[in-house]
Amino acid sequence: MSPQILISDVLREQRQYFRAGATKSVDFRIAQLQALKQVVIEHESEILEALKADLNKPEFEAYTSEFSFVIQEINYALKNIKNWAKTKKVSIPLILSPASAQMIPEPLGVVLIIGPWNYPFQLSLLPLIGAIASGNCAVIKPSEFAPHTSHLVAEIISKNFPQEYISVVEGDVEISKQLLQEKFDHIFFTGSTATGKIIMAAAAKHLTPVTLELGGKSPCIVDKEINLEVTARRIAWGKFYNAGQTCIAPDYVLINKDIKKEFLKNIEKCIQEFYGDNPKNSPDYARIINQRQFSRVANLLQGDIRIGGEINADELYISPTVIDNVTWEDTIMQDEIFAPILPVIEYVDINDVIDKINLRPKPLALYIFSKNKKFQQKILSETSSGGVCINDVIKQFSASNLAFGGVGDSGIGSYHGKASFDTFSHYKSVVNRKFFLDASILYAPYAGKLSLLKKLLG
Ligand code: NAD
Repeated sequence: MSPQILISDVLREQRQYFRAGATKSVDFRIAQLQALKQVVIEHESEILEALKADLNKPEFEAYTSEFSFVIQEINYALKNIKNWAKTKKVSIPLILSPASAQMIPEPLGVVLIIGPWNYPFQLSLLPLIGAIASGNCAVIKPSEFAPHTSHLVAEIISKNFPQEYISVVEGDVEISKQLLQEKFDHIFFTGSTATGKIIMAAAAKHLTPVTLELGGKSPCIVDKEINLEVTARRIAWGKFYNAGQTCIAPDYVLINKDIKKEFLKNIEKCIQEFYGDNPKNSPDYARIINQRQFSRVANLLQGDIRIGGEINADELYISPTVIDNVTWEDTIMQDEIFAPILPVIEYVDINDVIDKINLRPKPLALYIFSKNKKFQQKILSETSSGGVCINDVIKQFSASNLAFGGVGDSGIGSYHGKASFDTFSHYKSVVNRKFFLDASILYAPYAGKLSLLKKLLG
């Protein structure tokens, strides 16, 4: 059977299943979330092993940033779903009386979730939690570049959920393109900005709404008024976690000239503390996903390499690297790095930094390290980004009650917690009028009625 026929079959089955209405009951959704939680817990060791096989992801990182995120998000949805799914009564203007009005959240139908390879487990399942909580059927297409995780997600889902409810379609870009030919009720995509444009163009043919969780270059601004040791530790952690392959990793550092030297010393110390003298031998340091990415990243190793710069193609290893004296025009400053390379640009005047950031596509994340509230506030109010974390990095992703998403080139829409529920729901507005008091003022002939109506409307 060709994948095209298979995909159409799955979609037809899912449409029928959705129309039959089972997914609309809140009790059903709760039961599915509980089942998902149970099955994820049962497969903990396989999940961590798959991530190790795909990215050499250290067990600690796999547990904290993939496994536990999924469990946390399910728990949060279970705690709040009854409230989210409630019909919301709203007040209406006098002119509509007597009547009542409400907004009813309803599932969209059959949704498509396309995932990337860098956090291949949680970025396939986190959107699914929202889709289930909102009462949808879902097709998931995990990334082909994390095959162990992709197979495991397919296995876990197919063994525990009927295909007509949730289905995993594995495969590469060609499969993804075939999926995009079909009409879905929503497409939730996580991946690069370039692919995001292709997804949106394909979705437009069916007028399918999209959520695009994209990437970009997330700046990290470091003021003079900081705790230098903690700042360096947090930035080094966020940059070299998962070998820099994190959409919200600090892409580059903009540092006050006066403290640059000390900052670099501290970063070097942190790398040594985290990964020892030779990070290649550290069990806590991930690898680049594949040869294609490795070649791309290796080409970025140019300029004033202060720390690291070692590579080993056979092991897909790139050591934690810091490049000093980078300029805005350098190659490394043109696209998202997505690797363990930290360019450092020094500044004297923060206004120049803000101007430069504002000339570039809006980032997914922006980081500010400063104890100075005015400094923080100035950057917050004069720049735009998907999210911000002050005096740390990446943490803005970790709270289910904080919506996560990009803006401009870094994405459209958001998710996590209630935002996920909203993303996969349509709020149907309903006005329910009564038959009595059918005011004749609204009906033709209008002669003499407008002035009275104006008074009534205020
Ligand atoms: P990618 O865009 O290459 O691929 C993502 C998915 O899209 C994969 O499943 C792939 O099969 C599919 N795909 C690729 N090309 C396609 C095409 N032409 N037509 C249809 N489908 C296609 O992204 P990636 O390399 O897997 O992930 C890295 C990117 O994802 C980075 O830019 C990173 O910043 C971004 N990202 C963003 C977030 C976020 O939450 N905003 C999270 C993780 C990664």
